[in-house]
Amino acid sequence: MKVLKVVGLLTLFFISVIFYCEWIIYYQAVLRCHWPKLKHAGDEATDGLRALILSDPHILGNSGHWMDRLRREWQMGRSFQTAVFLLEPEVVFILGDLLHHGYHDNQQQWQHDISRFHQIFRCPGNTELIVVPGNHDVGYYYQLTAEKLQRFQSVFNHSALISRRGVNFVLVTSMALDGDCSACSEQQANLNSISLLLNCSTQTRRRRSFCRHMTPVPPSAPIILQHFPLYRHSDSVCVGQNSSHHRHLVFRERYDTLSQDASQKLLWWFKPRLLLSGHTHRSCLVVHGNREGKGHPEVSVPSFNWRNRNDPSFLLAVFSSSLYQLSECFLPEESTVIWVYCSAALLAGIGTAAAYTTCMPTHTHTHTHTHTHRNDDAQCVN
Ligand SMILES: [Zn+2]
Repeated sequence: MKVLKVVGLLTLFFISVIFYCEWIIYYQAVLRCHWPKLKHAGDEATDGLRALILSDPHILGNSGHWMDRLRREWQMGRSFQTAVFLLEPEVVFILGDLLHHGYHDNQQQWQHDISRFHQIFRCPGNTELIVVPGNHDVGYYYQLTAEKLQRFQSVFNHSALISRRGVNFVLVTSMALDGDCSACSEQQANLNSISLLLNCSTQTRRRRSFCRHMTPVPPSAPIILQHFPLYRHSDSVCVGQNSSHHRHLVFRERYDTLSQDASQKLLWWFKPRLLLSGHTHRSCLVVHGNREGKGHPEVSVPSFNWRNRNDPSFLLAVFSSSLYQLSECFLPEESTVIWVYCSAALLAGIGTAAAYTTCMPTHTHTHTHTHTHRNDDAQCVN
């Protein structure tokens, strides 16, 4: 009877620990996050477009060890669903590398991996999902083909210029900016014409004649969303605290960041008020200068996958046509979860040993065996 009671208590204990580590912990983390407030100096806070931004989920698909795959997909799925449920963003932006092996998947693998992506990152009907491709989805500039781009665009068919509530977003396939494929020149020509359109939108007087024939867009400097960050020498240029030991690793142009030429081109074309990128798996804020001395801030969003870091996070952003505010929301650390499981196992071990000790028959030389066992059985029933 006592043994059954101990087994029952242990089962209940382990179910509670698993429930905490696999469900509750995500609510606990996301409940600490809040949408930032948008306001002009001295004004009341105003409403804006609420966007959740994440990057580099690197879904393994059929590759990798099944335990690794299962664990990471569960963590990302639970985190994302909890965040979308509690925070109710209007739009979700994912900044590339949705898949880990997308660039060399055959058609069947691609469809399987994309359906996993849609299961993990499913959004309610009132939340829009917008993604940009990463090098793991369509390949680096030398691997990029029109077929791979078309395959991606057939699933995520977004125009390169999106306007929501007066805010302009430019979606850039950054790998195409440094390539010389036909799809790359098409992409660059498209971006060039979008930059003309955006420049026309901000000219309020004496609009140039060619602007008159263009579809009007909100008169607001754009926000660029892309996978590769603009060129920076290393993460040592990041503003604020960055104690990562990777901060002095020197970046290679066209692999770790865009080339210097492509970076300059984007700044000249768009004069963005903000750039959001991924790829490095680490967060960074860097301000790129321009000729007028006005800076273009860029925020690199860290990886959303625990495979790539102990403390994944995502951004909460509120945008209006002239302002924006960002805040970072941190998810549970892998080391915390491991610590909770190890502590629970230790506690369960100590508890079991204590229960076993109290149930053990005590043999004394002054009593017969039969007598002693009868007494112990009586104790254990209680
Ligand atoms: Zn990447």
